[in-house]
Amino acid sequence: MSDELIRLPGVLEPVTRPGIQHHACEHPGCGKDAGWGFARPKQPSHWFCGERTGLQLVRMAIELTCPAGVLPSQEAVNLLYGPLPVHEAEALAKAIIETVERLTRE
Ligand SMILES: [Zn+2]
Repeated sequence: MSDELIRLPGVLEPVTRPGIQHHACEHPGCGKDAGWGFARPKQPSHWFCGERTGLQLVRMAIELTCPAGVLPSQEAVNLLYGPLPVHEAEALAKAIIETVERLTRE
């Protein structure tokens, strides 16, 4: 595995390399050991386990760039779709599709 840090320029910055600090995953209902921390500039850091880190990066990008309302909260995704990573991925995919459909309608 590469130790290259994941970056979304100007949006999210890793706050530490994985494995250096111990935190609990913030994803509702998970609570696993979280080795990945991310923060928006000058805002508190957020921590996620390996299963949720990639999905969380996509969620944050959608929340920052897509129209409000295309992506339910993580708690709502747990209720509407289910608690597994594949359920979050389904919600993220639908949010991206909805955004593209809105843009192509305009
Ligand atoms: Zn987790």
